[in-house]
Amino acid sequence: MSFIESQDPKLFETIEAELDRQNNNIELIASENFVSEAVMEAQGSILTNKYAEGYPHKRYYGGCENVDVVEDLARERVKSLFGAEHANVQPHSGSQANMAVYFSVLEPGDTVLGMNLNHGGHLTHGSPVNFSGKLFNFVDYGVRKEDEVIDYDELLNIAKEHKPKMIVAGGSAYTQTIDFKKFREIADEIDAYLMVDMAHIAGLVAAGLHPDPVPYADFVTSTTHKTLRGPRGGLILTKEEHAKKVDKNIFPGIQGGPLMHIVAAKAVAFGEALNPEFKEYQEQVVKNAKTLAGRLSEKGLRIVSGGTENHIVLVDVKSFGLTGKQAEEALDQIGITCNKNTIPFDEESPFVTSGIRLGTPAMTTRGFKEEEMQEVADLIAETLSAVKEGTKYETLKDRVTALTSKFPLYK
Ligand code: PLP
Repeated sequence: MSFIESQDPKLFETIEAELDRQNNNIELIASENFVSEAVMEAQGSILTNKYAEGYPHKRYYGGCENVDVVEDLARERVKSLFGAEHANVQPHSGSQANMAVYFSVLEPGDTVLGMNLNHGGHLTHGSPVNFSGKLFNFVDYGVRKEDEVIDYDELLNIAKEHKPKMIVAGGSAYTQTIDFKKFREIADEIDAYLMVDMAHIAGLVAAGLHPDPVPYADFVTSTTHKTLRGPRGGLILTKEEHAKKVDKNIFPGIQGGPLMHIVAAKAVAFGEALNPEFKEYQEQVVKNAKTLAGRLSEKGLRIVSGGTENHIVLVDVKSFGLTGKQAEEALDQIGITCNKNTIPFDEESPFVTSGIRLGTPAMTTRGFKEEEMQEVADLIAETLSAVKEGTKYETLKDRVTALTSKFPLYK
């Protein structure tokens, strides 16, 4: 019997219910993944007991000789994974990684350029309801209306007009390849810092399937739990010249003691990402996303930006006369989990939206390949058609169960 089961039955029951949900549903939330048992074991380890304010070999607490080894391992592995000069593996989240970079070189009120949230950016890239938009003067850039791809000419014009101190590249719902070299050239023209938030594509970058931002950016931030398939958390990569500033702005700037059990789990995940199988996994992630986008398009759904080059597929469900909210709710009923998402130039509110965002990292971890993704696309299209036509669609749930039961989670 597990310790939680005997001590806290209610909580145990709920975790079991969540395991069932994860096992039985098709998980298409683009920012989620399933970690390995080794990553999970590190997260649940006795390292959670240890305070370790500071950095390896320069701590404010005694007894840090073992956690120093853990953090050094995580730092060295992530540096070699991305070819970075310096790494900070302590950010508790992607948002905190971004905050620490901003605080390293910006003053409140400074102008920063970030991608519009509706065009695929992230809250921490200047949304007015987020600390970034409250503290700094964010100006946004976006995609071209015709092809829904970043308009680099317009970006240059906006940069010249507003002269930001920093440009932020990267986003949460952008499906096309990002040209970091071009971002660097634009930043150089106006003498701005370049920060790349590669949270979504970090796994693809590690596998060499997306251009690498490290040679071009002053700062690269990421989460560790999306395509990178590690524990929930963040990281910062930077050139040596910015290392001290960044470290100081994580601790003591915005965080206290690092979560050493999470740092250990990051070390495990970075070790996994250095293995050749990780590249095969990422290749399959992209193949699956392309298959999903292609089949949905054949079924008459409009794919934003005309397709995908990464792990995300953004679907305009207005092409089926639905809102993102209706589509998300319907898919939920048959056991397909995704999220409603605004699309470029969306006329609906962020709570309703005209789109859904789908992603393949999680189901690829479970073993789905092109054949299964075709069936997933068919299930999505049939469900959305049924909603449109007002016919019954609950029976499609059996087909979801047939798929998921072939690929059990945590055998
Ligand atoms: N940056 C990007 C591009 C993201 O997509 C996300 C999360 O979705 C974050 C930052 C924030 O990460 P966290 O939820 O760990 O704060």
